[in-house]
Amino acid sequence: MPVMAYVLVRTKPGTSHELLASRRIPGVKMANSVFGTYDSVLVIAAKDMDELSTTIYDIVEKHPNVEHTEVLVSIPYPPPEKPVPHVEQYSVVSFNCPSCNSLNPEGSTYCHFCGFVFRPER
Ligand SMILES: [Zn+2]
Repeated sequence: MPVMAYVLVRTKPGTSHELLASRRIPGVKMANSVFGTYDSVLVIAAKDMDELSTTIYDIVEKHPNVEHTEVLVSIPYPPPEKPVPHVEQYSVVSFNCPSCNSLNPEGSTYCHFCGFVFRPER
């Protein structure tokens, strides 16, 4: 299942810009420097958790100034539901009124349109 992760990265002071080069690593969708507790935020897309950890490992390995990472894995949307089959259509065999030719549902005893009384079939 594909995973998305937000990776919060703390780097040595003054080096957070280096991490922006991570944009070149496949799977890194976004790499921004931020203010706050962390210095950079990366958005990573991977086909599974294995690939995600490989990508993160790549990043950390290529950037010796990374001091700490925190990975927030996005909760995937539930897989698209199978198309719900149409509500069971109970088989209504309609037939035409011999008088007005309107369609009436099977089992009708009289025409819903003109009131013509059908002969019960025996
Ligand atoms: Zn009728």
